Amino acid sequence: MPDENIVVGVRLRPFVGHEAGQKQCFTVSGNVVSVVPEAFGDGKVFHQGRQDFTFDHAMDSTDPTLPHFVSQEKCYGLMAESMINHVMGGYSVSLFCYGQTGTGKTTTMFGKAEPVSEQGLLLRLLHDLFEVTSHDGSEFNLTLQILEVHNEKVCDLLAHTKEDSYPDIHVHPKLGVYLKGAVEETVNSKQECMKLMDFANSKKKMALTAMNSQSSRSHTIFKLNVEKHGGKDNTIVTSEIFFVDLAGRENERTTKVTGERMIELSFINTSLMHLSHCIQALGAPKKGRRHTVCGGGDGSPHEHTNGNTNGLRDMIAFRNSKLTLLLANALSGNCKTSMVGTLSPAAAHYDETMTTLNFANIVK
Ligand code: ADP
Ligand code: MG
Repeated sequence: MPDENIVVGVRLRPFVGHEAGQKQCFTVSGNVVSVVPEAFGDGKVFHQGRQDFTFDHAMDSTDPTLPHFVSQEKCYGLMAESMINHVMGGYSVSLFCYGQTGTGKTTTMFGKAEPVSEQGLLLRLLHDLFEVTSHDGSEFNLTLQILEVHNEKVCDLLAHTKEDSYPDIHVHPKLGVYLKGAVEETVNSKQECMKLMDFANSKKKMALTAMNSQSSRSHTIFKLNVEKHGGKDNTIVTSEIFFVDLAGRENERTTKVTGERMIELSFINTSLMHLSHCIQALGAPKKGRRHTVCGGGDGSPHEHTNGNTNGLRDMIAFRNSKLTLLLANALSGNCKTSMVGTLSPAAAHYDETMTTLNFANIVK
């Protein structure tokens, strides 16, 4: 990961069952994704602006026999591996998966526990994180929160009772944003994290759509708090790791939803719009658009760990949605952000894929 605030990648998944027989309308070459006009041989008029998109990483995961095929392991190396160093240096980090439902967000973030080669970014990061913390010689205190944002309501997926499941968001002048009453489990291994993730998963609201029976209509946030004790003067260095499996953004037109689903979709699309604004601001600190929640915001990890004294500034953009408010600590000041836009290769999803490409292009 280059030394930038934000790294944007896109990942093209293979064709899946229901897309059998369709033409491939996006290809990857180097770090560029291109539209394949020939895929629209039926004379579809085709002039939606640009047809090549350049990113930090364009990942072709369509076919394992390709020399440039991007496996789960390779994806981790490109998008998340260096986060470990940032975290150990006291930076906060976040990773977002964004894309239409069914394009590979959950696969990219979690994948399968078995075989190990199929593990996604979060599982690999947890593996490396516990490797490092167990050999570092310092004392670490790691805690995990798992949260869901559904229809602008925050749900604590680790809460054991319904009454405890809806914590309030508070904004502390020095500590930034926190959830009052949310469960924060101490974790000592990747296995413990995975158990909690299973527990959270079983609680998660699932809704079926015509596009994907596993379709999730909520954002899921995994927040790891890393506290490192040690050093000459026994300092405490803290950083936060956010992994966000964003709800699939879908076009109201193509998804044919009504009623409750329509409301969900409008909440999803609105919160994603606010997120894009906050991420854009993050990518453009030099243009003076950066927001600061707490700390000095000069980009130094030292400041992040010890200097949360300047109070809140410009929380307005974050307050527009629960999603951005929860992520405010990660999207302000001293943090490193990765975003993976997930893409279907199929011509039938052309419009949605273009939306994802444009979103990823804007935040870059
Ligand atoms: P999302 O979370 O965006 O809704 P999923 O991760 O559930 O999408 O993926 C949808 C389908 O596509 C699943 O059947 C999954 O196995 C398949 N898939 C997604 N990404 C990949 C990939 N990189 N390689 C192989 N199959 C994939
Ligand atoms: Mg998913």
